[in-house]
Amino acid sequence: MLSLDTKWDTEADIVIIGYGAGGAMAALTAADEGANVLILEKQRFGHGPEVGNHYSTSHMSGGVYLQPTDRAGTIAYFQAMSRVGKGYTTPDGYSGDDLIEAYTDEALQNLKWLQDRNFNVSKVGDGAEHPFEGVDTFESYRFEASGVGMMRTFEALIEKNPRIKVMYETAASRLLQDMTGEIVGVRATTGEANPREINIRAGRNVVMAMGGFEFDDKMKLNFLRVFPSYFTGSEACTGDGVRMAIDVGAELWHMNCVSARLVMKFPEFPSAISAWMTGVRPTPYILVDRYGRRYTNEKIKGHTVYYETTLFDSQKLDYPRIPSFWIFDEERMNSAKLAAAGGGITGSMGRYAWSSGNKEELARGWVKTGDTLKELSANLGIEGDLLEKTVETYNGYTTVGHDPEFNRLPEELLPLGKGPYFGVPVFPGGPNTQGGAKHNPKGQVLNVDGEPIPGLYAVGEFGSMFGMLYPSAGGNLSECFAMGRIVGRNAAKFRE
Ligand SMILES: Cc1cc2nc3c(=O)[nH]c(=O)nc-3n(C[C@H](O)[C@H](O)[C@H](O)COP(=O)(O)OP(=O)(O)OC[C@H]3O[C@@H](n4cnc5c(N)ncnc54)[C@H](O)[C@@H]3O)c2cc1C
Repeated sequence: MLSLDTKWDTEADIVIIGYGAGGAMAALTAADEGANVLILEKQRFGHGPEVGNHYSTSHMSGGVYLQPTDRAGTIAYFQAMSRVGKGYTTPDGYSGDDLIEAYTDEALQNLKWLQDRNFNVSKVGDGAEHPFEGVDTFESYRFEASGVGMMRTFEALIEKNPRIKVMYETAASRLLQDMTGEIVGVRATTGEANPREINIRAGRNVVMAMGGFEFDDKMKLNFLRVFPSYFTGSEACTGDGVRMAIDVGAELWHMNCVSARLVMKFPEFPSAISAWMTGVRPTPYILVDRYGRRYTNEKIKGHTVYYETTLFDSQKLDYPRIPSFWIFDEERMNSAKLAAAGGGITGSMGRYAWSSGNKEELARGWVKTGDTLKELSANLGIEGDLLEKTVETYNGYTTVGHDPEFNRLPEELLPLGKGPYFGVPVFPGGPNTQGGAKHNPKGQVLNVDGEPIPGLYAVGEFGSMFGMLYPSAGGNLSECFAMGRIVGRNAAKFRE
């Protein structure tokens, strides 16, 4: 709440908190509508890989985005994914049909918007991830140089736009409300060397574009379905938006939803590293739990295997699938790097250069080995002696080309060889959380009674529309673009 003696240090028509793809798109659109925009970014300006330089999760992404090509198909597909379970649903799904429709109408224009502004993007695939109606109505595109390449183009557009200013090293801490409950500004701490608190007035609206809570352990414990989990994006995403939204009475949603799978996590880095299980060509590998048992079809569940790690044994106080173990032989070890190169700290930002042949990581002890499965099992700390039997059974399936337990695709059913064997612990986690402030199709943040909080908008993965299932690689960026334009247009108007 404002006090009578609140002093404004600076002001703009629109104050956008967070400079990732969502904030960037909202800023450019609001400026096109004639508004002056100030973006507050917590990290410092800088392009090197050092911690603290400006790398949003958008920078660290694989830079793939999902392009709908058909209205009815997209709506059907997104509605199917927002059902909370077979036979169960909330009155309008978990995402809200009106929001899905608004997103779809705008997202159909994404490719044209990007091409008109010379983003370097090319088509990389057709279709989406889950077997629901409408799955065939999508295309996917990838930005040259992944997320970093995409953000450099956004940054170049923003730099030459006279209506937009960026304040780096400025962490928002509080939304400022007047006596009537309208959001009229933001309190922030600015400057790394000599931090000071400032108040920034928003003449029209404030937009929260602050990403998720991937790097706040308390929030992950309270909100996610399983603990621990580790993420591969920006360490600056510590859930600040969640705390600020609660403070002004916003409703939260999708707090237990994630776009996630299984990742490698090593103590040297706060960020996890995406495991590239398949490599460049199919090579033999399996996934087992802490007791050496397979529990899933290893391949098909790109963004959903996370849900299978949530199994909890209440009698033993034990998550038997955390960590799980990725088990492979020399063929996989020698065929390609074990880490994904598309995004995260091993991607274009270049914070960690994973070695060719994976030798450096073997030497560091990140990858364990054993001449026999028994030895590997002991070195990984797998409990019991089931691993050998599991591999024997799995190898048996490969000889008949059929996996009766988990239906692994025949072309993926490749036998593990004679040894040596290798393994890495893998944990639930991955790209990002989806929870944050609930918003309507205009992007206005809603209070706990479902009414818009005047002056406040949200965009991007902070309160993403994705409830329950994540649609497919590229969903979050597609949402950032489409909802970024919707929010930018609406926020440029005077406070409703
Ligand atoms: C390794 C990886 C690969 C991915 N690949 C893809 C992909 O290929 N396609 C896809 O669609 N999605 C992908 N994702 C997910 C996607 O990148 C994100 O969901 C999306 O970029 C989020 O954008 P955003 O603008 O909402 O938030 P972010 O990009 O996270 O930006 C939020 C910004 O807010 C700043 N901030 C936070 N708190 C404050 C504060 N208090 N004050 C000021 N600033 C603050 C942060 O520093 C950050 O710069 C990937 C994610 C990861 C980690």
